[in-house]
Amino acid sequence: MKKFITLILALALLCAPACLVSCGNDDANTLTMATNAAFPPYEFIEDGDYAGIDVEIAQEIAKKLDMKLEIVDTEFDSIIGGVVSGKYDMGMAGMTVTEDRLENVNFTSTYATGIQVVIVNEDSEYTSYEDFYTGFDEEGNPKGVKENITIGVQQGTTGDIYSSSKPKDWGFGEKNVKRYKTGAEAIMALQAGKVTCVIIDNEPAKSFVAANKGLKILDTSYTEEDYAIAIAKDNDKLLHKVNKALEELIADGTVQKIIDKYIPAE
Ligand code: GLN
Repeated sequence: MKKFITLILALALLCAPACLVSCGNDDANTLTMATNAAFPPYEFIEDGDYAGIDVEIAQEIAKKLDMKLEIVDTEFDSIIGGVVSGKYDMGMAGMTVTEDRLENVNFTSTYATGIQVVIVNEDSEYTSYEDFYTGFDEEGNPKGVKENITIGVQQGTTGDIYSSSKPKDWGFGEKNVKRYKTGAEAIMALQAGKVTCVIIDNEPAKSFVAANKGLKILDTSYTEEDYAIAIAKDNDKLLHKVNKALEELIADGTVQKIIDKYIPAE
């Protein structure tokens, strides 16, 4: 009997190295990140490769977890659904933590902040988004939106959500919002005079304004937000691992170094 057990053990040991190579679950070693790579400086494509703050932070996280990072470029709007269904391990796309999103996914710690800003054509008559309203009530809340005001946004983003809310909640009403698949398409519509302004996160806004002539960012910013990584609610184990890695990268200055590389101090 003892001999038999020894034989089994020996066989198991012999098999082990082979299993490490051929029986391992590839998926378990791949960290799939869904993003929308049209959101510079957080994610974009440069020389045929993914680049940006989120991309580099995700690479560092994968390194710490000893996993292979796989990036999937998809519409921003479909990232959360894909994370919920388990198609992607995480969503990282300059994604703002919101109450609504928290109902569907968990978020890691925050690693960056964003501000919604308003981009207009340089010759625009508007100097602040407050100019888009007809007036304000006794409490200082907007009463209504001026005629011919159309707000361009990227579909499903916080810029879309806030802009689409009612004027009394500092939105502009569903009917005055035009949604585009990407920020770049919204910018093209602005240049073509199809929308009055584009409301989008400040850093991509700066990139768009730098890359396109005739645009400017208004001085008044809209709202401040926190960016974090979305992970499925039933994947606590991954949330914990990614959070630990992210927090270490924040503590040792790696995250700040990556941010500084893409957003030079003004
Ligand atoms: N921060 C915004 C949001 O979470 C926009 C993100 C994006 O367009 N990638 O909705």
